[in-house]
Amino acid sequence: MKSFSVPHLSRRHLLMAGAAAPLAGLAAGSARAMAPQMGLSSTASQTVKLGQFEVTTLLAGNRTVEEPQSIFGMNVSEDEFAAVSEAAHIPTDAAQFFFTPTLINTGSELVLFDTGLNPAGITAALTGAGYTPDQVDIVVITHMHGDHIGGLAGDAGATFPNARYVTGAIEFDHWAAAGNEGFDAKVAPLAEQMTMINGGDTVVSGIEAVEAFGHTPGHMAYRLESDGKSLLVAADFANHYIWSLGYPDWEVRFDMDKSAAAATRKSLLGMLAAEKMPFIGYHMPFPALGYVEARDSGFQYVPHSYQLLMG
Ligand SMILES: [Zn+2]
Repeated sequence: MKSFSVPHLSRRHLLMAGAAAPLAGLAAGSARAMAPQMGLSSTASQTVKLGQFEVTTLLAGNRTVEEPQSIFGMNVSEDEFAAVSEAAHIPTDAAQFFFTPTLINTGSELVLFDTGLNPAGITAALTGAGYTPDQVDIVVITHMHGDHIGGLAGDAGATFPNARYVTGAIEFDHWAAAGNEGFDAKVAPLAEQMTMINGGDTVVSGIEAVEAFGHTPGHMAYRLESDGKSLLVAADFANHYIWSLGYPDWEVRFDMDKSAAAATRKSLLGMLAAEKMPFIGYHMPFPALGYVEARDSGFQYVPHSYQLLMG
């Protein structure tokens, strides 16, 4: 073993070594400004592996919303809402909403599902994951609420300059007839680059549309399959990990057809539980990836831990 050779260390090296020592660091710290608190992180990403696919959830934004029972559990008593929330250790006066697009790198295409609230949020999350918006080949829109189409375009024009777009024919036709501010501003100008599909159609090999109507008239989920492994990009069929999974019959303000949405919830949750298939829920707590177990007359959310991190 070679002996430690002090003469080779310059004065600068010694000063650096000294600064790294805990006690010297403390002394120096008195002269430094305290690191400021940074607030809640609003963008993040997590990548997992599904067969040959890399699947990245992108937190494109999150916010606190007050009076959540004006949105979830509209048809149950305040007492029932409070008891369920308390049992799950979550407050009744506010809820945290997450907005989580999904990016699939199939190895030959980069496919983005939904775009968040605005171009800045999705661009920051995408960049954080190591990609740039001009690399996206296909943008799939699950449905046309503002928090899913908001990142398609902004003052600078289209956010994904090289992408083509895929969406459900029923969804597109509904909003083209009904109109809404977001559709007119963000979707209509891209209509010529859009491919309209129906349930059972594929976006690319291994990505198949699944009808999940109710939240909106043409809302669709997407089933991924690679090397025999499956995952459902489930969008907004269930929007809260406790209130929607535990109690799929609880009415949700944003479900346009409440009974169709409840029927879709129960059928997809039953399928996910039976097949032990992981799913990504756009509004689930980040990283928005989990499993479903049947429990009582509803279901329970089981967050992903490391199942899809292992090759
Ligand atoms: Zn949504």
